[in-house]
Amino acid sequence: MSADCIFCKIVAGYIPSKTIFQDDEVIAFHDIRPLAKVHFLIVPKAHIETLKDCTAEHQALLGKMMLLAAQLAAEQGLTGYKTVMNVGREGGQEVFHIHLHVFGGGPAA
Ligand code: 5GP
Ligand code: ZN
Repeated sequence: MSADCIFCKIVAGYIPSKTIFQDDEVIAFHDIRPLAKVHFLIVPKAHIETLKDCTAEHQALLGKMMLLAAQLAAEQGLTGYKTVMNVGREGGQEVFHIHLHVFGGGPAA
């Protein structure tokens, strides 16, 4: 856990979130500022700052995040959706704890 990381605080339960899934490795919750009718984030529980920090040891975790995107999107009633991982400041990343965005259902109301 990183003391200044907002997603580590969500993982630890210090900050509430609208959680839709969790197990020992990942948590998924609705984005606080949704950009689509359905917009959730899939977040590893371990603090990894960016995709650039991932190595072969993270391969299974990254694959799990993608498969979970498909599973949770279906559970949220989406038949089509977009997945995005922003990487680094120039890639639009604001929270430096890796996360996969899942967007669907059209623009946020
Ligand atoms: P990034 O730009 O780093 O890819 O996306 C970070 C996302 O985290 C943003 O869409 C932002 O709305 C979301 N976010 C930031 N703080 C919180 C929070 O405290 N709770 C939740 N649920 N989402 C957050
Ligand atoms: Zn973190």
